[in-house]
Amino acid sequence: MKYLGAHVSAAGGVERAVARAVEIGADAFALFTKNQRQWRAKPLEEATIAAFRRACREHGFAPKQILPHDSYLINLGHPDPEGLRKSREAFVDEFRRCEQLGLSLLNFHPGSHLKKISEAECLSRIAESINEALSHTRGVTAVIENTAGQGTNLGWRFEHLAEIIAQVEDKSRVGVCLDTCHAFAAGYDLRSAATCTATLDEFEAVVGFQYLRGMHLNDAKSAFASRVDRHHSLGQGHIGLEAFTTIMRDPRIDEIPLILETIEPAIWPEEIAWLRAQAA
Ligand SMILES: [Zn+2]
Ligand SMILES: [Zn+2]
Repeated sequence: MKYLGAHVSAAGGVERAVARAVEIGADAFALFTKNQRQWRAKPLEEATIAAFRRACREHGFAPKQILPHDSYLINLGHPDPEGLRKSREAFVDEFRRCEQLGLSLLNFHPGSHLKKISEAECLSRIAESINEALSHTRGVTAVIENTAGQGTNLGWRFEHLAEIIAQVEDKSRVGVCLDTCHAFAAGYDLRSAATCTATLDEFEAVVGFQYLRGMHLNDAKSAFASRVDRHHSLGQGHIGLEAFTTIMRDPRIDEIPLILETIEPAIWPEEIAWLRAQAA
């Protein structure tokens, strides 16, 4: 079983995201549990929490089908003490919001060294940030997303993800979300069934599918190995449709949310329907 959906808007309250997922024919979805461009958010109200949980129950969304994404401001590998403290505080708050909503996954970008510390030091800080958040919370798995490697962002090599996981103490609560656009921009080819399978094989060898908790299915406006993060609609970018057919037929990718972050929400219903048809 492959769960398919998109990163839907939570405007007007997180409980509204559920109906938006249902509308597009999804059986998975992603959302922000707070404004992703602000540090602070008011705590979730009891009524909102209850409404979200009720909507998920009514429409059959189990926690493993929902992939919340944290704020873009957080840098878990921040080189400066103040930036790191602020990021870690906000990260724990993101975990708590997931706990309150009954969610079991939290998707985030690993972090950036900002040319002030080494890659190795930055990866250790990221792992330490995860350890700290896990020790303060329960039941939510930290899901590290691979990046395009734009600027000084780490996590664009599978080896970065493996190194972070190696330094996380509780391996049962750490996982990975693989974004196809980011992988392609980072230099992992996906343009044919053969190259896509080879990339997935490399992921298996370096990280391991036991850690895969979700995927972001995006075509790429950016060129291969450009280290530039620009998403596109499926089949309209440099990756092309074959990768997505290959992913939908790969038995290693199962029981996890596959989320569109493609650029035209109006065609999400068609993209989801097309993906489902590929699995057959
Ligand atoms: Zn992301
Ligand atoms: Zn993504």
